[in-house]
Amino acid sequence: MKILVAVLALVALVGEAAGQPPPSLRGRTIAIDPGHNGGNARHAARIARLVDAGTHRKACDTVGARTAAGYPEHAHNLDVALRLAVLLRRAGARVVLTRGTNTGWGPCITRRAAIGNRVRADAAVSIHADGGPAGGRGFHVIHPARIRGLTDDIAAPSYRLALALRRAYRTGTGMPYATYTARAGLSSRSDLGGLNLSDVPKVFLEAGNMRNETDARLLSSSGFRQREANAIARALASYLRAQG
Ligand SMILES: [Zn+2]
Repeated sequence: MKILVAVLALVALVGEAAGQPPPSLRGRTIAIDPGHNGGNARHAARIARLVDAGTHRKACDTVGARTAAGYPEHAHNLDVALRLAVLLRRAGARVVLTRGTNTGWGPCITRRAAIGNRVRADAAVSIHADGGPAGGRGFHVIHPARIRGLTDDIAAPSYRLALALRRAYRTGTGMPYATYTARAGLSSRSDLGGLNLSDVPKVFLEAGNMRNETDARLLSSSGFRQREANAIARALASYLRAQG
């Protein structure tokens, strides 16, 4: 019996060390949206097409940022998304991704939102890394502003999701709050179609600043990206647990 207890404790410890959330997400559906796409630059006309972003018309998608050394944001975003999907599925969740490869273009922001809506996701997270001023560091979480008839149904739960993500990301990765934008790591926006068109609680993570040397080194490291995924998984688990 003592041996069994010791083995179980060891298994729990190993799971903890690997950063796995507890298997608490059974019955939950989570939409993960890795921002941009590796083929966007080759399909400039397609991604420049204007679509309805709720409050205004906006490009279908954009190319995204890159580090000074040439590591592209779209690769970062997909890598973190795939790592996150593994963790969430292991915890019992149903996971839907807006894209699973980095070779195509889009999808348009309208479709990215529609994918989370169609599966009635319990939560949706869009993964990005910013292209800010080289002198500025840090991450921020963007949540939808309350817009009557558009986001008034998701603004409050999205804000709670943003708080959970800010806390888990800060403690899980050590990345500081953005020094050049947002306020204490949080920003409310009304210009993002991916948020405006969402009918499910949704936030954007700007995981760091790709144009800053320190952040770029972190975002380019696979070990750091695993920590990002672990932190996002913990945030989702904590948010969903609180929702009941
Ligand atoms: Zn982006």
